[in-house]
Amino acid sequence: MMRKVRTRIAPSPTGFLHLGTARTALYSWAYARHHGGEFVLRIEDTDVARSSQDSVDQILASMHWLGLDYDEGPIYQMQRLERYRAVIAQMLDAGTAYRCYCTPTELDAMREAQRARGEKTHYDGRWRPEPGKVLPPVPGGVPAVVRFRNPPDGEVSWDDLVKGRITISNREIDDLIIVRPDGVPTYNFCVVVDDWDMNISHVFRGDEHVNNTPWQINIFNALGAPLPLFGHVPVILGDDGQKLSKRRGAVSVMAYEESGYLPEAMLNYLARLGWSHGDEELFTREQLVQWFDGQHLSKSPAQWDPAKLAWVNAHYIKHADDARLAALVVDQFKRRGIAAEPADALNRMCALFKDRCTTTVELADWLAMYFIEVRPSPEDLAAHVTEAIRPALGVLRGALAVVPWNKTAIAAAIKETLAAHQLKMPQLAHAVRVLVCGRAQTPSIDAVLELFARETVLARLQVT
Ligand code: GLU
Repeated sequence: MMRKVRTRIAPSPTGFLHLGTARTALYSWAYARHHGGEFVLRIEDTDVARSSQDSVDQILASMHWLGLDYDEGPIYQMQRLERYRAVIAQMLDAGTAYRCYCTPTELDAMREAQRARGEKTHYDGRWRPEPGKVLPPVPGGVPAVVRFRNPPDGEVSWDDLVKGRITISNREIDDLIIVRPDGVPTYNFCVVVDDWDMNISHVFRGDEHVNNTPWQINIFNALGAPLPLFGHVPVILGDDGQKLSKRRGAVSVMAYEESGYLPEAMLNYLARLGWSHGDEELFTREQLVQWFDGQHLSKSPAQWDPAKLAWVNAHYIKHADDARLAALVVDQFKRRGIAAEPADALNRMCALFKDRCTTTVELADWLAMYFIEVRPSPEDLAAHVTEAIRPALGVLRGALAVVPWNKTAIAAAIKETLAAHQLKMPQLAHAVRVLVCGRAQTPSIDAVLELFARETVLARLQVT
């Protein structure tokens, strides 16, 4: 019988949700939705010293922003300690786990000796119970750890959904610590109990975890729990070919929101980074869900490409609803201390400028001229607002003071001024742009001017 598809994302709240985890979350979510299954959010907060509520909030905000809705959770591991303790007790009873009293000094000496003999360092199993073996006397004052009793021989194999068949010999695998000296169970153990209890059928995660999977499979087997299928997704590389990291530019999802990216663009770009559906580069959330069947995930690392992301974002901005963009511009303005309300005028400004912007930050850069003073550069003023053009500017200003305030009338006033002064369109238009907009290039000047209040235009055209 086919298992019901249940996937999960299990971020550790030790920082913001980074792009790699967001992409894995996206794949897990899309896979569950594709199969009409369920998607679970689990917060792996057993690293108490490094976990924080702030990071949890960031993770939740990122999931929400990307629209990755979950059917269960957030489930916090620290609220499941009782359950982990119960399973540990069962394993100690069953002999699939045992207490080890090695001190850190002892372990260091063990590794030192192994290195001296040219061996790979490993736990030598000195506290591992074996038939007929006499264990050392339990030392006083040394807190025990609990180790998983890994099968001594044979091998662990799985058909990875991304990487294909992977096989590791059990001889390569140490008896893993599953409870630390402070009594808190470790990642590789909790993850198994959770995936088991939460009935997870498919685990997608970053391939930095590929070495953990043999342990986890062995623990699943020791518990008699059904195995999920595993898919290990390769890392994302920065445009310098190195692993994407905090040091290499923005890697948090929310940083992209701040930088003016749209969530659907992020979703589209992230999904395509490491997965393909034919040659499709632009697709909706619904298409992703329809197409994402876990096939065609790339085996090789994906390269983060800011230019492509910008291209994808520009596409979505161009097609976005004006009122929605207006609200995003208001947000961007708030960050700059510019007061503006979403209003019909702002919608029209967005409509006029959106097809030349890659982000809502750029859109806000353009639209700021409608809300705050502009400061034309001395170079632009010198180049465009010349002595020769000033008389015409004065006449145009006079005409603009009285024409009906719409594009057609503004265009007619400009044309008349050009004819009267024997000027070419760019000469006058550039001067007007520099003075009113603070830059020499804009969309069609009549359309741009129409969206200003008449008084603003007249004030800015006042050159004595
Ligand atoms: N907490 C782990 C991480 O953030 C989860 C790994 C997993 O999905 O099993 O990398």
